[in-house]
Amino acid sequence: MSTVSAYAATSATEPLTKTTIERREPGRRDVAIDIKFAGICHSDIHTVKAEWGQPNYPIVPGHEIAGVVSAVGSEVTKYSVGDHVGVGCMVNSCGQCSSCTAGLEQYCKRGATFTYNSTDKDGTPTQGGYSQAIVVNENFVVRIPDSLPLDKAAPLLCAGITLFSPLRHWKAGEGTRLAIIGLGGLGHMGVKLGAAMGAEVSVLSQSLKKMEDGLRLGASNYYATSDPATFKKLRGSFDLILNTVSANLQLGDYLNLLDVDGTMVELGIPEHPMPVPAFALALARRSLSGSNIGGIAETQEMLDFCAARDVTPEIELIEPDYINEAYERVLASDVRYRFVIDISKL
Ligand SMILES: [Zn+2]
Ligand SMILES: [Zn+2]
Repeated sequence: MSTVSAYAATSATEPLTKTTIERREPGRRDVAIDIKFAGICHSDIHTVKAEWGQPNYPIVPGHEIAGVVSAVGSEVTKYSVGDHVGVGCMVNSCGQCSSCTAGLEQYCKRGATFTYNSTDKDGTPTQGGYSQAIVVNENFVVRIPDSLPLDKAAPLLCAGITLFSPLRHWKAGEGTRLAIIGLGGLGHMGVKLGAAMGAEVSVLSQSLKKMEDGLRLGASNYYATSDPATFKKLRGSFDLILNTVSANLQLGDYLNLLDVDGTMVELGIPEHPMPVPAFALALARRSLSGSNIGGIAETQEMLDFCAARDVTPEIELIEPDYINEAYERVLASDVRYRFVIDISKL
């Protein structure tokens, strides 16, 4: 066991505080990682504030982890000391069900082991990336190509793959008329990745406040959803809509923006159910679906794609003692577009 510094939440209402946690010695198939950077994902906040159920406190959040391999177990073949690596939202899964064998570990039938607030195979609670080190089975570690700076690579491990996976699954590319709802941490990656894949990207945002950013990041069009004329004008205009917003929307208004056979995909997870108007689906054979992160092999493919195409998130680098303020700013949508914690300052 080794003791490492970390930032943990001890209740839904208290600020995160500095503490120490134990990390296991690397087993035969484990990789020990010195964490250099950890992104702040909105899920971290939902979880520590108990908005997605009662978590197991104390909890160290963080599932956008970038670091350097410090040790490997005796049977590890994929990684060596000094390699740049990442860990995303999962640290294990059953490895045997039809999802796992298809590279869809995120949909493991027995439930994947998530990077924090999950129970590890040894029965201990998993603790995430707001910490100096982590030990993970090599099959759940991905390689960060040398051309990607580690700080900017971190948010790719959740925000990046959350958008990359549906773009690939629904075959976004040349000729795809793609709309991204919301220009936040997830949405801005959707714009960049969609544009890099060759799609024509439109942003559907509440206001035109971030329009200049949206166009600079790769969007061709930018529309305000607060303006009812937007929904009239854009009726039937898109093949694929990715919804990154976790607030309830009038789904019918958005479904009607899809052309025949178009698909709308839910990525943000609102707390309450939304009514689905069947007319909007039936009258143009539209689909409504959802998607959750991506598999491990696909996460590697995403990192390689981002390195080759020079796609990186816009980040604001912070020191660990700023985490609580950063949370407030995420909740106020006051970040462009992802906070990344410099773990070397921990
Ligand atoms: Zn996340
Ligand atoms: Zn499985």
